[in-house]
Amino acid sequence: MIKVCVVGYGTIGKRVADAVLKQDDMELVGIADVVPDYKVKVAYSKGIKVYVPKEKFESFKSAGIEPQGTIEELLDRVDVVVDATPAGIGAKNKNTLYMDRKVKVIFQGGEKANVADVSFSALANYSKAVGKRFVRVVSCNTTAILRVIAAYLNNGYKIEKVRVNIARRGADPHEYRRGPINDVILDPPKIPSHHAEDVKSVLPDINIVTSAIAIPVTITHLHFVNISFKDGISRDEALETLYRTPRIMLFESSYGFRSSAQVIEWARDIGRHRADVPENIIFKDTVSVIDQNELMFLMAVHQESIVIPENIDAIRAVSGYTNMWSSIRKTDEALGLFMEGKVYG
Ligand code: NAD
Repeated sequence: MIKVCVVGYGTIGKRVADAVLKQDDMELVGIADVVPDYKVKVAYSKGIKVYVPKEKFESFKSAGIEPQGTIEELLDRVDVVVDATPAGIGAKNKNTLYMDRKVKVIFQGGEKANVADVSFSALANYSKAVGKRFVRVVSCNTTAILRVIAAYLNNGYKIEKVRVNIARRGADPHEYRRGPINDVILDPPKIPSHHAEDVKSVLPDINIVTSAIAIPVTITHLHFVNISFKDGISRDEALETLYRTPRIMLFESSYGFRSSAQVIEWARDIGRHRADVPENIIFKDTVSVIDQNELMFLMAVHQESIVIPENIDAIRAVSGYTNMWSSIRKTDEALGLFMEGKVYG
């Protein structure tokens, strides 16, 4: 059993913790946080052991949460740490907490690439993370883009260039401080956006340019994807590759799918915990091939959950598990993801 803890129990941390609890080769030893809010209280009420800095013991106790020990004590009890603290804190934690201990650490995409030995996307470069000490799971948008690129590379296609325009969600549902809003913001106000550079932190040779705006929604990002192939591709070949790739699903308008909100409603209807959608959702009727080599489509990306499967694979990879496809299958089965993309396509 791989002993795991999660440091930072927010949007990503709470989902990673629940995903670890579902794996038969992992044990969630505990979680650590610094704020005794409702999220940590829920974890505590579910029996998850909570560790906090010594100076925070009293505030957690006052909130009805009995700490199990300090964060340092938690780190001494685990093999792998998933750090899901806000951007920049992970790098600080690396120096103050992780460096001098025998733990392996998975960082998140808000950290700079140089925080880790390797930036990670399971379908694109699983083997590079095997046995590594510090690994960074790239961000939500980058994870979605890399899955699609890897789908075509893994099936023998040669990519000439990738262009992705991203409409980013303005905030996660719990981030009330970012609203109310009524705007479309250039995010960032330049082209290329940082997402292209982030994709290259995993696949350095890809010709990719990205741009992004932020829109006033909390549910998903929406990507306009455009991939050109060196030797051409047909629409059927393009679809077949997407169908065959784990963590990608195609949704068809004949089932009524026309929006991101419907994707989340679908997740509620099928009983997904938290209405999570860790798969890339590609709207099938937008999949088009222009001039025999230019593939275009629209894709919804549920930012809160999309990186969770990759965090689980990263835990296995740093622990020395070498079989990428076996890890992906184990993770997806445990999380109840669909094993092929044709369900609504
Ligand atoms: P969040 O703000 O929802 O949660 C962060 C949690 O960390 C909070 O509970 C906070 O109290 C806790 N925390 C803060 N400082 C801490 C410390 N020193 N020790 C322990 N806990 C501490 O953040 P998030 O959205 O889950 O983002 C976490 C990371 O994941 C970031 O790098 C982010 O860029 C990345 N990420 C976020 C998303 C997303 O859409 N939210 C998607 C992919 C990746």
